[in-house]
Amino acid sequence: MTPQRTDTYRLGLLAGDGIGPEIVPAAVQCVDAAARAVGIDPIEWVELPLGRAAIDTHGTPVPAETLAALDGLEAWLLGPHDSVSYPEPHRSQLNPSGTIRKHAGLFANIRPAKSFAGSKAVVPGTDLVIVRENTEGFYADRNTYAGTGEFMPTPDVAIAHGIITRAATEKIAEAAFELALQRRKHVTIVHKANVLMLTTGLFRDVCREVGARYPEVTVDDFHIDAMTVHLVRRAHEFDVIVTENMFGDILSDLSGELAGSLGIAPSVNSSLTQAMAQAAHGSAPDIAGRDIANPIAMILSATMLLEWLAARHDDDRLMRAAGLIRTAVDDTVASGTATGDLGGTASTSAFAAAVASAVEASAVEASAVDVPGARPLSAQE
Ligand code: ATP
Repeated sequence: MTPQRTDTYRLGLLAGDGIGPEIVPAAVQCVDAAARAVGIDPIEWVELPLGRAAIDTHGTPVPAETLAALDGLEAWLLGPHDSVSYPEPHRSQLNPSGTIRKHAGLFANIRPAKSFAGSKAVVPGTDLVIVRENTEGFYADRNTYAGTGEFMPTPDVAIAHGIITRAATEKIAEAAFELALQRRKHVTIVHKANVLMLTTGLFRDVCREVGARYPEVTVDDFHIDAMTVHLVRRAHEFDVIVTENMFGDILSDLSGELAGSLGIAPSVNSSLTQAMAQAAHGSAPDIAGRDIANPIAMILSATMLLEWLAARHDDDRLMRAAGLIRTAVDDTVASGTATGDLGGTASTSAFAAAVASAVEASAVEASAVDVPGARPLSAQE
């Protein structure tokens, strides 16, 4: 059932590791500015322990109280985690985002890659979305109900299994075709059915079956290896790409970089009732703590979360808030303010402050032209 429109929103906040404590507050600053601009009551941020800091305070990177709190929230922001640096036994366990995705059943990972006008990109004009199945496939650390699909019968033999089911493939294919209807109406299925014939063959066939229910949407499919070539040559020609878990992870890093930088690649992980904003990139430990990371991926992930909430609550104020942030990010980059990965000199905090000011300025402009009566944006239809 669609929840009713609400006046207050409570969003979880999990800062994570590495650059997380820099880019997550940047996203909060922009969301708060946009919420104020459209007349939403201040968003209530619920800070929850996660990652390296939680190992120190709670003895585990994903405390039970964090998972219990997430059960009571419909949306939250997750910073990246640096789980490869955790001490054992935590390093060998399912990482924090995998744990949360599995716990909350967030089966769809939506990862757009869009280049910015006026900014450098390997393939200018890229505007595609990877729709990645998030719960099974070839990531054996998360494709089983209990335990892991990876094991070592002897010290010199390691085995992993992949899982593709009709049910999960149908759900992700529907998400991809529904998204394509709102975009340029084309879906590309990525698989490796010439080698992994049964598993990725099932994925391809079920996606095609679902696609037959969407006659307005054109469909093609490629093997994962060929797809990397097509993306490098002509990423700008793709629209929606649907694929299994591991292929989607790899293709989304590639697409983000082709569009300009991994630092601009946002994502949302969702089920039908909950959603989590999470930049597509990792914790970038090589640049952490220096205020130089690009916060765009995290800011746009939070923006996607507002759009998800807007649709769920039928709340057009959230849609306007998201639009204000998108325009502000575009305008800020176009005006030459950008972090080093995009060829600029701005710090993380300066870029976020510039976006927040641009949000406030465009909201003031919008209310100034809204004559007569100068109604607040929140009252406009
Ligand atoms: P994970 O496996 O957790 O996704 P990863 O191994 O893919 O992580 P990242 O942490 O994403 O690696 O970093 C890859 C490269 O991209 C690094 O050089 C990092 O500095 C750069 N990078 C990642 N995110 C950003 C960002 N927001 N701004 C600038 N550079 C970034």
